Amino acid sequence: MQPIRTFNVSPALPEALEPLRKLAYNLHWDWNVETKDLFRRLDRKLWESTRHNPVLTLGMISQARLEEVAEDDGFLAQMERASRQLDDYLKERTWYRKHRGNSEEKECYAYFCAEYGLVDCLPIYSGGLGVLAGDHLKSASDLGLPLVAVGLLYQEGYCAQYLNADGWQQERYPINDFYNMPLHLERNADGSEVRVAVEYPGRTVYARVWRVQVGTVSLYLLDTNIEPNNPYDQDITDRLYGGDLDMRIHQEMMLGIGGIRALKALGYKVNVYHLNEGHSAFLILERIRRYMEEEGLSFAEAKQLAQSTQLFTTHTPVSAGFDLFPPDKAMYYVGHYANIFGLSREEFLGLGREDTGNLASPFSMAALAIKTSSFINGVSRLHGDVSRKMFHGLWSDLPLDEVPITSITNGVHARSVVAKANQELYDRYLGPNWSSRKAEDPLWDRVASIPDEELWRNHQACRSQMVMSVRERLQYHLRDRGATSAEIDRAHEVLDPSILTIGFARRFATYKRANLFMRDLDRIKKIIQGNKERKVQFVISGKAHPKDMPGKDLIRDIIHTIREAGLENSVVFVPNYDIHIARLMVSGCDIWLNTPRRPREASGTSGMKGSMNGLMNVSILDGWWDEADYVRTGWPIGHGEEYDNPEYEDEIEANALYELMEKEIVPLFYNRDNEGLPRGWIAKMKDAIRLNCPTFNTARMLRDYAMRGYFPASERYKAMTSENYQPVKALAQWKQHLFEQWYNIKIEDIDIAAAKDLMVNQTVAVKSRINLAGLTADDLQIELYQGSVNADGQIVNGVPVVMDYQGTDEHNISIYTADICYGASGLQGLSLRVFPKHKHLSSLYEPGLVLWAS
Ligand SMILES: *Cc1c(COP(=O)(O)O)cnc(C)c1O
Repeated sequence: MQPIRTFNVSPALPEALEPLRKLAYNLHWDWNVETKDLFRRLDRKLWESTRHNPVLTLGMISQARLEEVAEDDGFLAQMERASRQLDDYLKERTWYRKHRGNSEEKECYAYFCAEYGLVDCLPIYSGGLGVLAGDHLKSASDLGLPLVAVGLLYQEGYCAQYLNADGWQQERYPINDFYNMPLHLERNADGSEVRVAVEYPGRTVYARVWRVQVGTVSLYLLDTNIEPNNPYDQDITDRLYGGDLDMRIHQEMMLGIGGIRALKALGYKVNVYHLNEGHSAFLILERIRRYMEEEGLSFAEAKQLAQSTQLFTTHTPVSAGFDLFPPDKAMYYVGHYANIFGLSREEFLGLGREDTGNLASPFSMAALAIKTSSFINGVSRLHGDVSRKMFHGLWSDLPLDEVPITSITNGVHARSVVAKANQELYDRYLGPNWSSRKAEDPLWDRVASIPDEELWRNHQACRSQMVMSVRERLQYHLRDRGATSAEIDRAHEVLDPSILTIGFARRFATYKRANLFMRDLDRIKKIIQGNKERKVQFVISGKAHPKDMPGKDLIRDIIHTIREAGLENSVVFVPNYDIHIARLMVSGCDIWLNTPRRPREASGTSGMKGSMNGLMNVSILDGWWDEADYVRTGWPIGHGEEYDNPEYEDEIEANALYELMEKEIVPLFYNRDNEGLPRGWIAKMKDAIRLNCPTFNTARMLRDYAMRGYFPASERYKAMTSENYQPVKALAQWKQHLFEQWYNIKIEDIDIAAAKDLMVNQTVAVKSRINLAGLTADDLQIELYQGSVNADGQIVNGVPVVMDYQGTDEHNISIYTADICYGASGLQGLSLRVFPKHKHLSSLYEPGLVLWAS
């Protein structure tokens, strides 16, 4: 039945409970223990059954219960406290103010991502990327950064997983009921919905805008499921990563182009843009168009301004992971921007090509993002290395280590992932500010003062809590798929709350090798069964992408192996991995296991969550773990080897894991003193908390993004747009002149005042004569490049030495000098290179030009 009219009905709260509404609509409740408790206390059953959704809880709760708590002084007092905490939180934006307090013009940084994992009851994420984006917003809010975020609001969100009797993953797509979620529909002053319009081939598609309030940060989500969009267009925001390539482009156009328009419609004046992964890269086209049409800039000027103020973070460690569109498809959907820009087809496509000369190559969203950003980073040190290798082609004249892609290692939001009991413990012994304090802060020394017994008691409670919840979830799923009552009863017996528990939970991509630990079944059975005092159990969880058949096979294989080996009670697969299960597992397990094929895990974050709760990581040296203190805070599997033969790799690494478990992990865990405490283990737990909590933390990560990315980009924006855009116009003009003159620069000669044999630390004077063509000494940086020479005759790990300009000779040739000296013996090399230089460039590398002496 079609309704003739619809209403948005809000819960009717007794006057005294009105603060609950404010609390429900700010996700601050997710990381404030007091507020979360309050909603649980309101109605525990509803709180659980609504997936911890305070808005729906308030909508469904009985009027009788509301009236009851309105009279309950204890409840009211807790509500007042929570309410005050929120108000105080919203006022305390100290970190940003301390660093940018004097900045006169207001700043705004816009963050774009295709998914956000914030809380259980907003299932618009698929995994690590989304949870990281969610944590980014939470920490931006904690630090008070003027950040605003943009994404899509998926009607069906990411799939819910259930397993059939055979262990085969099936998916369900629960419909998100936006009106019963912590979302505000954005409206104009006249009450009408704020709408954005985006041109698609032959039609316009509209989206309305919902806001999620994440502390002080607003996240705007676009929703195309409205009239007058046609049914196909209504489905653009239907499913995260659903549909075919055409649907992908539709979504990415809405995210990038629609997102920019939404911010404009809402009155934001953004000066820095941050693309988290390449899905939103079409936004660059819209930015350039707007600078051209609204500010009267030329294409070159608009592109320069956009690039100077844009950050791009890549999360992908393999080229196959990037969105690639066939050239004709890209032209069909966004080719109209070529006309606006005054570019030919190939010039336009070149914006998204690694090799602009290869006209057959596809249009890459990653290449587009990289070529139009001035700060590019991977998400761990190792992933930075991998990314520099992957994109070396874009800077083929630079040594690999100088490819301008840096890294900012991921983190997690401490108050969201540390279990309540642990938060209270840390609050008590470290003080209330531990969750965002730097590693250097002396408060971390106080971890040692936490009594072993208390830490252990807390941890045991977390483990019991997890075991209980896993049993409940298993029973729920068994009931749901119509299992026999005997099966359901048996689920009540799985796992033992008192034994060494190993957790493995993440997306089921095959490279993560969820079944590696089962490679030698006899051996792992012996470890699991131990002798009767030293048992081990595994808790496993994770979804395969709905189209990833090998991933689904992997889940089924694990289920079959468990059954055939009779390990149902000690190896448990928990269906429908989500933020809630993740938080239970990263506090309730003892070991967090991670077995990717190095270097496929760009960062990984679930292990960080574990560490903050005192879990030991046992992991291949990949992603973040490669840069952690993997001896004191867990155990490394292997030593960072990379293999060509995957069979052999599996064999070696599974054995290394068994070896660790048999010889180190199990004995340490069960080595109890006469008070029953595993002192050695607890010491390691404390190291994990002390060393990893401040470091692999989004508070640290956001400070890095701010100091290294947002602040400098914002300064560039202000500098370049001052005086009615004169500086950016001048820079664009300078670049044009640079490109015209560049190939006329000539290195005439290099004089080296030394014989072929040198001593270590002997100073050598070098003089070079260079014809700068139509450029001046101010336009260029001349560097010597010195370092040892490898067997292939190449300088490796070279070090640049900037040469001093000494004026020109009688032929108007410029003279440069510098002294060098070698600190190491052996075969050493020297070269000379020329870079363009300009005060408004983000770096010497930005124009992509370097001339080497030949
Ligand atoms: C943290 C988290 C992830 C990411 O885990 P990885 O270790 O990076 O694979 C994925 N899904 C959920 C629900 C999470 O909470």
